[in-house]
Amino acid sequence: MPELPEIEAIRVVLAKELVGKKIKSIAITNGKLVGRHKTAKEFRAHLEGHAIKGVTRLGRNLLIALDDAATLVIDPGPTGQLLRAKGPKDAKPKHTQAVFTFSQGPELRFVDANATSEMYASVKPAEGEVTVLNKFVDRLALSEDGKVIRRAIPELATLGLDPVIDQFGWDRLGIVLQVAKQPIQTVLKDQRLVAGLGDVYAAETLFTAGVRENRSSETLTSVETRRLHRALIEVISEGLKLGGTTVAPENWVDPDGKGGGYQSHLQVFGREGEPCSQCRTKIQRSETSEYLSFYCARCQA
Ligand SMILES: [Zn+2]
Repeated sequence: MPELPEIEAIRVVLAKELVGKKIKSIAITNGKLVGRHKTAKEFRAHLEGHAIKGVTRLGRNLLIALDDAATLVIDPGPTGQLLRAKGPKDAKPKHTQAVFTFSQGPELRFVDANATSEMYASVKPAEGEVTVLNKFVDRLALSEDGKVIRRAIPELATLGLDPVIDQFGWDRLGIVLQVAKQPIQTVLKDQRLVAGLGDVYAAETLFTAGVRENRSSETLTSVETRRLHRALIEVISEGLKLGGTTVAPENWVDPDGKGGGYQSHLQVFGREGEPCSQCRTKIQRSETSEYLSFYCARCQA
């Protein structure tokens, strides 16, 4: 699943390639992808003919801002990929659900074998309209940037704290853990609490923090919460620096078909049966309906 660092890697490519270009046309081959709109035609009408002003991100959503104050929001879900055509004759991959053509440059395809992704055009609310923000973001975010994005795109108002954009210290993360009272990996993955993580970075964060994935979040001590916060920032920063993680089964790649570099730094994820890098104990796997995790029973408590 593309998580925060992978979405950011996509964002960097799209920002470089698309800003200043006009969306010439959009072909939608799966109506469900734009199911928030009455018709695909209505979706296209918001976007076609408009120039791209900027590409940003919030949680696992890509946000493409247009010159008419609408924003194209893309949530690739667990398996969606955005791929730039390699040339005019490059055949469309199987499961292509949307094709964007621009005033210049290659077309952009959205490919997903499943129906778990979505995209929509969000129209900026009218002046004076109040957007109720996620309560954790409203009270705990130290940066205003994420609040500004949520107010402009009300569909994202319920999103929880983005570790990069919203910024919050360990004490504020501690408040989320106290309120949530869920297994800690469930909390880290719940987009209404912490936005941007999936199983890969959640499991790696928990290993780095020395905390087991199934600990109920409110039982973490302040020392553990501090370690968890530091681990979260460290793991996400490293993932960003290395351009994301490419692991089976999805094998995520960026729009130019390039994989990430973080997979060779994974300490536990996907390493069941291999020795722990710290203590040589065999890494174990844990799967529930909420998450898939990997852990070292000796290093994590
Ligand atoms: Zn260990």
